[in-house]
Amino acid sequence: MKTIIIGGGPVGLAAALALKANGVARDITILEAAPRATESFSDRNIALSAASWRFLSRLGVTVDAPQRASIRQVEVTQRGAFGLLTLDAKDLGAAELGAATPYPALRSAFDRAVKAAGIDVLYGATAASVQHEAQRAVVQLLSGEKLSADCVILADGAASDFVPEFKRFERDSGQMAIITRVSASKPRAGVAFERFTAGGALALIPRADGEWTVVWARPRADAERMLELEVAALSAELSAAFGGSLGILTVTANLTSYPLVWRFVEPRSGGAIVALGNAAQGLHPVAAQGLNLGLRDVQDLGEAFARKKFDDSIAATLSKFARARGIDRVTRIGFTGLLAYGFDRGGWLADVPRGLGLTALQMLPPLRREITRRLALN
Ligand SMILES: Cc1cc2nc3c(=O)[nH]c(=O)nc-3n(C[C@H](O)[C@H](O)[C@H](O)COP(=O)(O)OP(=O)(O)OC[C@H]3O[C@@H](n4cnc5c(N)ncnc54)[C@H](O)[C@@H]3O)c2cc1C
Repeated sequence: MKTIIIGGGPVGLAAALALKANGVARDITILEAAPRATESFSDRNIALSAASWRFLSRLGVTVDAPQRASIRQVEVTQRGAFGLLTLDAKDLGAAELGAATPYPALRSAFDRAVKAAGIDVLYGATAASVQHEAQRAVVQLLSGEKLSADCVILADGAASDFVPEFKRFERDSGQMAIITRVSASKPRAGVAFERFTAGGALALIPRADGEWTVVWARPRADAERMLELEVAALSAELSAAFGGSLGILTVTANLTSYPLVWRFVEPRSGGAIVALGNAAQGLHPVAAQGLNLGLRDVQDLGEAFARKKFDDSIAATLSKFARARGIDRVTRIGFTGLLAYGFDRGGWLADVPRGLGLTALQMLPPLRREITRRLALN
């Protein structure tokens, strides 16, 4: 099968590796608009579940141990009210729930794997349009060149908008994600934190260098105010919101921010074209699920092709894949939405049931284990 993948981000590269590894696609072209991959300077700290790391390892994508921050526990609390839920790898008899790694380290691992698999990435090649043509699809590049393939995978990220029948549903949350890093006076290795604060969820994800990445959803006006704060004032505000679990927090990096917009593309397949990863959905980063979900897309697409019968068309296989992804996709989007928006209100009317819910989950090991299993092993 001749395959064109538009987008050489992590999902596009994983798709190429998966389709090559199971022998489905022998001729793969990856089009990447950016120039030849150089060092990526993104400060993103990507947390992936144990299941995602296992899948990546099967694809040959491995990150050196010093670049990985293992996550063995996730603590869920709320500011100014009772309730503590601890999700622990020990409940599953596992060594870890997942691990976080700096985005540039993950990129380098992908680049090494793609090179080792003999897959070429055409850098500086921007797709300008994609059209159906009989059973195939044709991609036109900005340069004017046209390429035809049996299957075209859209892995071009959030701006993806090539196929008119792939409808984009978007909702502006009215919030901004504030991203920074902190050091802690009482560090606790291997623990990630989710804390519900009035106005938005606050996540602290461990970094390989011993610090934590902060992702804090704030109402837009408040985010703009915070962007103006000095380091000392910001550190004090964060420490107050987070509580004393890690002692005193000190901000160690510039603040970045971006608007939180939900995006969902449906349908995601048509003819010989399919959308994966951020081209198909955009999630709130507070639950660290975006790339996890993109990698599940890739895994399930590989399996759909592996199960394809000789006389099944590619269009039918893609459509089966899209239907089969439905439940996992909706569940994860719902779970992320619950974390991001279901818990952003304060006041006892919200705090009390929320605290009772967290306490009940903590005291019901089978339910707690099931949530932990879904987070780590699915
Ligand atoms: C601050 C932050 C923190 C995050 N933390 C986590 C986390 O902890 N865990 C997690 O699972 N997820 C996390 N995510 C989400 C994760 O980063 C994304 O889900 C993931 O990067 C999506 O990968 P992708 O390959 O689908 O898209 P992208 O990474 O956006 O890649 C798309 C690629 O397509 C290329 N492209 C675009 N248009 C064209 C075109 N016309 N022609 C050719 N190429 C094109 C782009 O140059 C780009 O390289 C986080 C996101 C943010 C913003």
